[in-house]
Amino acid sequence: MSSRRSSRARAAWGLFRTEFLFLNRDDLPSEDEQFEAYRAAVEAMRDQPVTIRTLDLGADKTVNGADRGGPNPALGLRAIRFCFAEPQMFLTQLRAILRASAYGRVRLLVPMLAHSHEIDLVFQYLQQARDTLEAMNVPYERALEVGGMVEVPAAALAVPLFVRRLDFLSIGTNDLIQYTLAIDRTDDMVAHLYDPLHPAVLQLVAGTIRSAVKAGKPVAVCGEMAGEVAYTRLLLGFGLRQFSMHPMQLLAVKQQVLRSNLADAEALASRILRADDPEKIRQLLGRLNR
Ligand code: PEP
Ligand code: MG
Repeated sequence: MSSRRSSRARAAWGLFRTEFLFLNRDDLPSEDEQFEAYRAAVEAMRDQPVTIRTLDLGADKTVNGADRGGPNPALGLRAIRFCFAEPQMFLTQLRAILRASAYGRVRLLVPMLAHSHEIDLVFQYLQQARDTLEAMNVPYERALEVGGMVEVPAAALAVPLFVRRLDFLSIGTNDLIQYTLAIDRTDDMVAHLYDPLHPAVLQLVAGTIRSAVKAGKPVAVCGEMAGEVAYTRLLLGFGLRQFSMHPMQLLAVKQQVLRSNLADAEALASRILRADDPEKIRQLLGRLNR
Protein backbone atom coordinates (compact mmCIF):
# COMPACT_ATOMS: atom_id res chain seq x y z
CA MET A 1 0.00 0.00 0.00
CA SER A 2 1.17 3.47 -0.69
CA SER A 3 2.02 6.06 1.93
CA ARG A 4 -0.54 8.22 0.11
CA ARG A 5 -3.73 6.26 0.35
CA SER A 6 -5.72 5.52 -2.75
CA SER A 7 -8.48 3.81 -0.79
CA ARG A 8 -10.77 6.81 -1.07
CA ALA A 9 -11.33 5.73 -4.65
CA ARG A 10 -14.84 4.35 -4.97
CA ALA A 11 -15.43 1.35 -7.20
CA ALA A 12 -19.13 1.83 -6.60
CA TRP A 13 -22.38 3.70 -7.27
CA GLY A 14 -22.95 2.42 -10.74
CA LEU A 15 -25.27 3.69 -13.39
CA PHE A 16 -28.96 2.89 -13.84
CA ARG A 17 -29.40 2.73 -17.62
CA THR A 18 -33.12 3.29 -18.04
CA GLU A 19 -33.22 2.04 -21.64
CA PHE A 20 -34.03 -1.51 -20.57
CA LEU A 21 -37.48 -0.38 -19.41
CA PHE A 22 -38.21 0.65 -22.99
CA LEU A 23 -36.86 -2.45 -24.75
CA ASN A 24 -38.80 -5.31 -26.39
CA ARG A 25 -42.17 -3.62 -26.41
CA ASP A 26 -44.30 -1.53 -28.75
CA ASP A 27 -45.54 1.01 -26.22
CA LEU A 28 -43.79 3.33 -23.78
CA PRO A 29 -43.57 2.51 -20.06
CA SER A 30 -46.02 4.57 -18.02
CA GLU A 31 -44.99 6.97 -15.26
CA ASP A 32 -46.13 4.51 -12.59
CA GLU A 33 -44.28 1.60 -14.16
CA GLN A 34 -41.08 3.63 -14.32
CA PHE A 35 -41.57 4.99 -10.81
CA GLU A 36 -41.91 1.44 -9.41
CA ALA A 37 -38.72 0.33 -11.17
CA TYR A 38 -36.72 3.35 -9.97
CA ARG A 39 -38.11 3.11 -6.44
CA ALA A 40 -37.20 -0.59 -6.25
CA ALA A 41 -33.59 0.22 -7.17
CA VAL A 42 -33.42 3.15 -4.76
CA GLU A 43 -34.84 1.15 -1.86
CA ALA A 44 -32.56 -1.80 -2.59
CA MET A 45 -29.53 0.51 -2.38
CA ARG A 46 -30.72 1.85 1.02
CA ASP A 47 -28.65 4.94 1.85
CA GLN A 48 -26.30 4.59 -1.13
CA PRO A 49 -26.93 6.97 -4.02
CA VAL A 50 -28.45 5.64 -7.23
CA THR A 51 -27.48 7.47 -10.39
CA ILE A 52 -30.42 7.24 -12.77
CA ARG A 53 -29.60 8.15 -16.34
CA THR A 54 -32.37 9.64 -18.45
CA LEU A 55 -33.25 7.75 -21.58
CA ASP A 56 -30.36 7.17 -23.98
CA LEU A 57 -32.15 5.88 -27.05
CA GLY A 58 -30.83 5.93 -30.58
CA ALA A 59 -27.64 4.75 -32.30
CA ASP A 60 -26.66 1.42 -30.68
CA LYS A 61 -29.80 1.41 -28.49
CA THR A 62 -32.81 1.03 -30.71
CA VAL A 63 -36.32 0.37 -29.51
CA ASN A 64 -39.42 -0.73 -31.39
CA GLY A 65 -41.63 2.17 -32.19
CA ALA A 66 -39.67 4.77 -30.21
CA ASP A 67 -36.42 5.60 -31.94
CA ARG A 68 -36.24 7.79 -35.01
CA GLY A 69 -33.29 6.28 -36.91
CA GLY A 70 -31.99 8.90 -39.33
CA PRO A 71 -29.17 8.65 -41.86
CA ASN A 72 -26.48 8.54 -39.16
CA PRO A 73 -28.06 7.49 -35.88
CA ALA A 74 -24.93 8.04 -33.75
CA LEU A 75 -24.93 11.69 -34.84
CA GLY A 76 -28.67 12.07 -34.98
CA LEU A 77 -31.62 12.32 -32.65
CA ARG A 78 -30.08 10.31 -29.85
CA ALA A 79 -30.18 10.41 -26.03
CA ILE A 80 -31.07 13.89 -24.70
CA ARG A 81 -31.77 15.11 -28.24
CA PHE A 82 -34.36 12.38 -28.63
CA CYS A 83 -35.88 13.29 -25.24
CA PHE A 84 -36.23 16.94 -26.30
CA ALA A 85 -37.99 15.77 -29.47
CA GLU A 86 -40.43 13.74 -27.33
CA PRO A 87 -41.22 16.14 -24.47
CA GLN A 88 -44.16 14.17 -23.07
CA MET A 89 -42.04 11.04 -22.87
CA PHE A 90 -39.21 13.00 -21.21
CA LEU A 91 -41.52 14.70 -18.71
CA THR A 92 -43.05 11.34 -17.83
CA GLN A 93 -39.61 9.96 -17.07
CA LEU A 94 -38.57 13.03 -15.07
CA ARG A 95 -41.69 12.82 -12.91
CA ALA A 96 -41.08 9.11 -12.29
CA ILE A 97 -37.45 9.76 -11.28
CA LEU A 98 -38.44 12.70 -9.06
CA ARG A 99 -41.07 10.57 -7.32
CA ALA A 100 -38.49 7.83 -6.67
CA SER A 101 -36.17 10.44 -5.16
CA ALA A 102 -38.50 10.62 -2.14
CA TYR A 103 -37.47 7.04 -1.24
CA GLY A 104 -33.67 7.30 -1.10
CA ARG A 105 -30.68 9.04 -2.63
CA VAL A 106 -31.22 9.65 -6.32
CA ARG A 107 -28.90 11.50 -8.67
CA LEU A 108 -30.16 12.37 -12.12
CA LEU A 109 -27.70 11.94 -14.99
CA VAL A 110 -28.24 13.35 -18.49
CA PRO A 111 -26.50 11.65 -21.43
CA MET A 112 -24.88 13.21 -24.47
CA LEU A 113 -24.92 16.88 -23.52
CA ALA A 114 -22.94 19.14 -25.84
CA HIS A 115 -24.54 22.59 -25.59
CA SER A 116 -25.20 25.07 -22.83
CA HIS A 117 -28.79 25.53 -24.02
CA GLU A 118 -29.36 21.79 -23.56
CA ILE A 119 -28.59 22.21 -19.87
CA ASP A 120 -31.07 25.14 -19.76
CA LEU A 121 -33.73 22.96 -21.36
CA VAL A 122 -33.12 20.07 -18.96
CA PHE A 123 -33.61 22.44 -16.02
CA GLN A 124 -36.78 23.84 -17.61
CA TYR A 125 -38.28 20.40 -18.10
CA LEU A 126 -37.27 19.43 -14.57
CA GLN A 127 -39.04 22.51 -13.22
CA GLN A 128 -42.13 21.63 -15.21
CA ALA A 129 -42.07 18.09 -13.81
CA ARG A 130 -41.63 19.46 -10.26
CA ASP A 131 -44.55 21.89 -10.74
CA THR A 132 -46.82 19.05 -11.80
CA LEU A 133 -45.87 16.98 -8.74
CA GLU A 134 -46.28 20.02 -6.45
CA ALA A 135 -49.75 20.64 -7.81
CA MET A 136 -50.68 17.05 -6.98
CA ASN A 137 -48.95 17.09 -3.59
CA VAL A 138 -46.63 14.28 -4.60
CA PRO A 139 -43.39 14.15 -2.57
CA TYR A 140 -39.95 14.36 -4.18
CA GLU A 141 -36.42 15.41 -3.20
CA ARG A 142 -36.09 19.12 -3.80
CA ALA A 143 -32.30 19.02 -3.69
CA LEU A 144 -32.02 16.34 -6.37
CA GLU A 145 -28.52 16.46 -7.83
CA VAL A 146 -28.31 16.83 -11.59
CA GLY A 147 -25.22 15.64 -13.46
CA GLY A 148 -24.15 15.39 -17.06
CA MET A 149 -22.33 12.81 -19.06
CA VAL A 150 -19.20 13.97 -20.79
CA GLU A 151 -19.20 11.75 -23.84
CA VAL A 152 -19.10 14.23 -26.70
CA PRO A 153 -15.69 15.86 -27.32
CA ALA A 154 -17.35 19.30 -27.35
CA ALA A 155 -18.41 18.80 -23.74
CA ALA A 156 -14.95 17.62 -22.73
CA LEU A 157 -13.31 20.61 -24.42
CA ALA A 158 -15.76 23.10 -22.92
CA VAL A 159 -15.93 21.28 -19.61
CA PRO A 160 -15.76 24.36 -17.29
CA LEU A 161 -19.17 25.34 -18.63
CA PHE A 162 -20.60 21.96 -17.62
CA VAL A 163 -18.77 21.90 -14.30
CA ARG A 164 -20.22 25.31 -13.37
CA ARG A 165 -23.80 24.40 -14.07
CA LEU A 166 -24.07 20.77 -13.00
CA ASP A 167 -23.68 19.02 -9.64
CA PHE A 168 -21.49 16.20 -10.95
CA LEU A 169 -20.00 14.75 -14.13
CA SER A 170 -19.72 11.24 -15.46
CA ILE A 171 -17.35 10.51 -18.32
CA GLY A 172 -18.81 8.08 -20.84
CA THR A 173 -15.63 6.79 -22.38
CA ASN A 174 -17.46 4.41 -24.75
CA ASP A 175 -19.00 7.29 -26.64
CA LEU A 176 -16.19 9.76 -25.99
CA ILE A 177 -13.83 7.39 -27.81
CA GLN A 178 -16.35 6.82 -30.61
CA TYR A 179 -16.90 10.52 -31.23
CA THR A 180 -13.29 11.62 -30.73
CA LEU A 181 -11.91 9.06 -33.16
CA ALA A 182 -14.88 9.22 -35.57
CA ILE A 183 -15.49 5.47 -35.46
CA ASP A 184 -18.92 3.92 -35.12
CA ARG A 185 -18.67 1.69 -32.04
CA THR A 186 -21.12 -0.77 -33.62
CA ASP A 187 -19.19 -1.14 -36.88
CA ASP A 188 -16.86 -4.16 -36.82
CA MET A 189 -14.97 -2.87 -39.85
CA VAL A 190 -13.52 0.02 -37.85
CA ALA A 191 -13.34 -1.74 -34.47
CA HIS A 192 -9.54 -1.94 -34.76
CA LEU A 193 -9.41 1.88 -34.64
CA TYR A 194 -11.22 2.02 -31.28
CA ASP A 195 -8.38 3.00 -28.96
CA PRO A 196 -8.84 4.21 -25.37
CA LEU A 197 -5.12 5.07 -25.29
CA HIS A 198 -5.22 7.44 -28.25
CA PRO A 199 -3.50 10.64 -27.01
CA ALA A 200 -6.56 12.73 -27.91
CA VAL A 201 -8.83 10.51 -25.80
CA LEU A 202 -6.42 10.62 -22.86
CA GLN A 203 -6.21 14.43 -23.04
CA LEU A 204 -10.00 14.74 -22.97
CA VAL A 205 -10.45 12.27 -20.10
CA ALA A 206 -7.64 13.78 -18.01
CA GLY A 207 -8.74 17.37 -18.73
CA THR A 208 -12.33 16.62 -17.70
CA ILE A 209 -11.22 15.02 -14.44
CA ARG A 210 -8.82 17.91 -13.74
CA SER A 211 -11.51 20.58 -14.27
CA ALA A 212 -14.04 18.80 -12.09
CA VAL A 213 -11.55 18.18 -9.29
CA LYS A 214 -10.43 21.83 -9.44
CA ALA A 215 -14.03 22.98 -9.10
CA GLY A 216 -14.71 20.50 -6.28
CA LYS A 217 -17.38 18.69 -8.30
CA PRO A 218 -17.62 14.88 -8.18
CA VAL A 219 -16.54 13.15 -11.38
CA ALA A 220 -16.80 9.49 -12.32
CA VAL A 221 -15.89 7.41 -15.32
CA CYS A 222 -18.80 5.19 -16.30
CA GLY A 223 -17.62 3.82 -19.65
CA GLU A 224 -15.89 0.46 -20.05
CA MET A 225 -12.52 2.02 -19.25
CA ALA A 226 -13.50 2.25 -15.57
CA GLY A 227 -13.96 -1.51 -15.33
CA GLU A 228 -10.71 -2.48 -17.03
CA VAL A 229 -7.89 -3.15 -14.63
CA ALA A 230 -5.36 -2.10 -17.25
CA TYR A 231 -6.59 1.50 -16.92
CA THR A 232 -7.24 1.68 -13.17
CA ARG A 233 -3.87 3.18 -12.22
CA LEU A 234 -3.88 5.53 -15.18
CA LEU A 235 -7.27 6.92 -14.16
CA LEU A 236 -6.18 7.15 -10.53
CA GLY A 237 -3.13 9.06 -11.69
CA PHE A 238 -5.39 11.47 -13.61
CA GLY A 239 -7.17 12.17 -10.30
CA LEU A 240 -10.21 9.94 -10.70
CA ARG A 241 -11.75 8.62 -7.46
CA GLN A 242 -15.13 7.33 -8.66
CA PHE A 243 -15.19 4.28 -10.90
CA SER A 244 -18.55 3.03 -12.17
CA MET A 245 -18.66 -0.48 -13.63
CA HIS A 246 -20.44 -3.78 -14.01
CA PRO A 247 -20.50 -5.68 -10.68
CA MET A 248 -18.45 -8.48 -12.27
CA GLN A 249 -15.48 -6.12 -12.51
CA LEU A 250 -15.71 -4.65 -9.01
CA LEU A 251 -13.38 -6.95 -7.11
CA ALA A 252 -10.57 -6.90 -9.64
CA VAL A 253 -10.62 -3.10 -9.90
CA LYS A 254 -10.87 -2.68 -6.13
CA GLN A 255 -7.89 -4.98 -5.67
CA GLN A 256 -5.91 -2.96 -8.20
CA VAL A 257 -6.81 0.29 -6.42
CA LEU A 258 -5.60 -1.15 -3.12
CA ARG A 259 -2.36 -2.30 -4.72
CA SER A 260 -1.63 1.10 -6.25
CA ASN A 261 0.75 3.81 -5.18
CA LEU A 262 -0.80 7.19 -5.87
CA ALA A 263 2.45 9.11 -6.19
CA ASP A 264 3.76 6.62 -8.77
CA ALA A 265 0.43 6.62 -10.60
CA GLU A 266 0.37 10.43 -10.80
CA ALA A 267 3.96 10.66 -12.01
CA LEU A 268 3.54 8.06 -14.74
CA ALA A 269 0.09 9.31 -15.74
CA SER A 270 1.50 12.77 -16.35
CA ARG A 271 4.33 11.30 -18.44
CA ILE A 272 1.74 9.33 -20.43
CA LEU A 273 -0.20 12.56 -21.02
CA ARG A 274 2.92 14.26 -22.35
CA ALA A 275 3.70 11.38 -24.71
CA ASP A 276 2.18 11.49 -28.17
CA ASP A 277 3.70 8.32 -29.59
CA PRO A 278 1.31 5.36 -29.15
CA GLU A 279 4.21 2.95 -28.62
CA LYS A 280 5.66 5.14 -25.88
CA ILE A 281 2.22 5.42 -24.24
CA ARG A 282 1.86 1.64 -24.18
CA GLN A 283 5.35 1.20 -22.81
CA LEU A 284 4.72 3.71 -19.99
CA LEU A 285 1.38 2.09 -19.21
CA GLY A 286 3.18 -1.25 -18.95
CA ARG A 287 5.52 0.30 -16.40
CA LEU A 288 2.63 1.83 -14.48
CA ASN A 289 0.93 -1.56 -14.24
CA ARG A 290 3.99 -3.54 -13.14
C1 PEP B 1 -20.51 5.56 -22.41
O1 PEP B 1 -20.77 6.07 -23.50
O2 PEP B 1 -19.35 5.38 -22.00
C2 PEP B 1 -21.60 5.13 -21.52
C3 PEP B 1 -21.40 4.78 -20.27
O3 PEP B 1 -22.83 5.09 -22.06
P1 PEP B 1 -23.35 3.96 -23.06
O4 PEP B 1 -22.26 2.94 -23.21
O5 PEP B 1 -24.58 3.44 -22.45
O6 PEP B 1 -23.58 4.74 -24.30
MG1 MG C 1 -22.78 6.72 -23.90
